Amino acid sequence: MDVALRLADEYALDRAWAWAFPAGSLNINVAASAPTVKDSLSALGLSIARLGHRGPKAFPLLFTEPSSPFAAYQSASLFPRDSVIRQLVSLFWVAYAGSFFLYWSISTLSYYALFDRRLEHHPRFLKNQVAKEIALSMKAMPGMAALIVPWFVGEVRGTTLLYDTVEEYGAGWFKGTALEGYGSWAYMAFSMVTFMLFTDWCIYWIHRWLHIPFLYKRLHKPHHRWLVPTPFSALAFHPVDGYAQSLPYHIIPYLLPINKWLYFGMFMVVNLWTILIHDGDMIHGHFLESWINSPAHHTLHHLYFTCNYGQYFTWADKYGGSYRPPREDLDPIHDAVKNMERKLKLADKEAKHVLREQQKQLSDSASTVESLDGDQQSDSGYEGSEAEMDGKAEVKTTHIRSISRDDSKDIRRRR
Ligand SMILES: [Zn+2]
Ligand SMILES: [Zn+2]
Repeated sequence: MDVALRLADEYALDRAWAWAFPAGSLNINVAASAPTVKDSLSALGLSIARLGHRGPKAFPLLFTEPSSPFAAYQSASLFPRDSVIRQLVSLFWVAYAGSFFLYWSISTLSYYALFDRRLEHHPRFLKNQVAKEIALSMKAMPGMAALIVPWFVGEVRGTTLLYDTVEEYGAGWFKGTALEGYGSWAYMAFSMVTFMLFTDWCIYWIHRWLHIPFLYKRLHKPHHRWLVPTPFSALAFHPVDGYAQSLPYHIIPYLLPINKWLYFGMFMVVNLWTILIHDGDMIHGHFLESWINSPAHHTLHHLYFTCNYGQYFTWADKYGGSYRPPREDLDPIHDAVKNMERKLKLADKEAKHVLREQQKQLSDSASTVESLDGDQQSDSGYEGSEAEMDGKAEVKTTHIRSISRDDSKDIRRRR
């Protein structure tokens, strides 16, 4: 994060801070024998602005060499780059912009390249669901960024065990053996595996606790509105829910020394994985299925609520007795296809009926069929666990998408 913050400062934030709070804007008459109230307030403002300022010697990675062309605005603000207040605000924007970019790029790519859009015809797919998922994600993002920022500030101020160069840890491993010289890389591998096991185990329990009815109703329920999620649901959380599930990633660098580039890479992979397990793909029967928590497992979590809480692996679910293996017959695509067939038949029938009854009022192009009855879907069998936790009212709310003849043709073509 320190390098990311320096780059953000060099390319944009130095100018923004200099524009909003130019250096020297607080004129303090330090030489005056009797300082005025204005002087005292200005001095207070200055000390707040410079809170935590220790200079380039203490934080070399946060500052640009004075000879660099990027250093022009470095000292142009009242708030130096290593001011705690400035870092809180700047890192909020860095976190927000980063998650915004990642969400839109990866979710869009996954939605168009991987997500099977026939799932949008599943009986439990909400009306305008993608728009609702995006709206909730957009609403959650600033809150999640704000909650995460103190961890990022701690990281750039060097309070974690993150280290800069590969050789700093493990260099002495394998001394005097044929593997001498590979110790640092072995430590990198060890820290990577530990990172994954620790965060996966913690997220399993945090996610499982979020399903305790008291917490579920208040925090986790918005993410389970999507029984058949799309990649756009990956950040569609209550902000505190999303934050709670990210805590292990922020805690582990305080417990285990990790190379900071490895940590950054893993953090990106985690974000990618979170989006990818929401692509609804029920690929099953592959040899890793029993160990890796894939999109198939997470699809089942969204459908059945009390299984497959894990993030990357299935070990914690197996230990906690909540593992549910993906099976061909559990694939939601079957209900989606069945519903497409049913809608097609009803649509044709209904359209003829409408034309018979209101022939005079309808033009040839008015063939849109509205509102199929949601009660037809009550046999789809996904109520169980959610209903136990939260009453049946919410679950029984079903939305069937309106379809037009163009839609129907499209369905036929895709089949
Ligand atoms: Zn859940
Ligand atoms: Zn999910």
